[in-house]
Amino acid sequence: MTVHQSDAAYTQDDLAQALKRNQFTLNYQPIVSAKTARTVTVEALLRMRLPTGHMATPPDFMDVAEQSGFVCDLGEWALQRACADGLNWPGVCVAVNISPKQLQVPGFLNTVRRILNETGFPPDRLELELTEHCPVEDFPRACATLTALRQLGIRVALDDFGVGYSGLIYLRKLPLDKIKIDRAFVESMDEQSDVLVRSIVQLGRNLGLTVTAEGVETSEHQRVLIEAGCHELQGYLFSRPLPAGDIDTLFGCGAASARLRIAGAA
Ligand code: C2E
Ligand code: CA
Ligand code: CA
Repeated sequence: MTVHQSDAAYTQDDLAQALKRNQFTLNYQPIVSAKTARTVTVEALLRMRLPTGHMATPPDFMDVAEQSGFVCDLGEWALQRACADGLNWPGVCVAVNISPKQLQVPGFLNTVRRILNETGFPPDRLELELTEHCPVEDFPRACATLTALRQLGIRVALDDFGVGYSGLIYLRKLPLDKIKIDRAFVESMDEQSDVLVRSIVQLGRNLGLTVTAEGVETSEHQRVLIEAGCHELQGYLFSRPLPAGDIDTLFGCGAASARLRIAGAA
């Protein structure tokens, strides 16, 4: 039976069926350079097509996927799809979210190598964003895998920095290229209380990391984050996540090298 719920309560079987039936898809959200406002990266975000025409988003199914371990199958599918789609966007990096659970799977490194070989996607245009939905359990194994991935030329970002499991200890222990400041910090910024965001940006910069802020919704956010020293910005101010076809159009018309403006799309 085709997966049709629109309000959560999916089981692992539902998700496995949805994958088999090709109901999953990826939307891509631009990440822009703070300096130039040009799109430097697009982040792949999972969606599940429902027969109603609606799309289920990760909050509807990611908890079940994480808890059941199905996130590893889903993550492999997403990596394959994103690398294939990314071939259409030369000069732009593609960021794919990975669960800490995937890092614990012994064959993960080989899976990434195989996908890069099969698709021909250049590793130096791939970023892996380590999400915070569950803890990294085996640090030595995770470090060894991340180190090997970086040796291939892939960049590693620590997602949702500052919330959940994704804390300071991860900064000290994991080999990283980038941190993404969680949008909770950006949302709560106002004239009096941007000190936290400024401190996180400085921390990242002092460690030699690229600092990206997510959840940038207003030009005031943009102004403060640029002044704080963020390298890259992502949020509805620039673009919502878009289907791959819209990204093709965006880049096909030269928009990758143009400034993205506020987009009311999808
Ligand atoms: P994330 O990696 O932190 O992705 C950013 C989320 O914030 C996305 O939600 C995006 O649609 C939303 N967002 C972006 N800009 C703004 C903004 O300006 N304002 C607001 N309010 N929201 C914004 P989405 O697509 O629902 O994804 C939720 C989470 O699901 C992601 O958070 C990521 O942790 C996880 N996820 C998505 N795709 C994958 C995947 O392929 N694998 C894994 N393991 N996790 C994934
Ligand atoms: Ca992410
Ligand atoms: Ca986040």
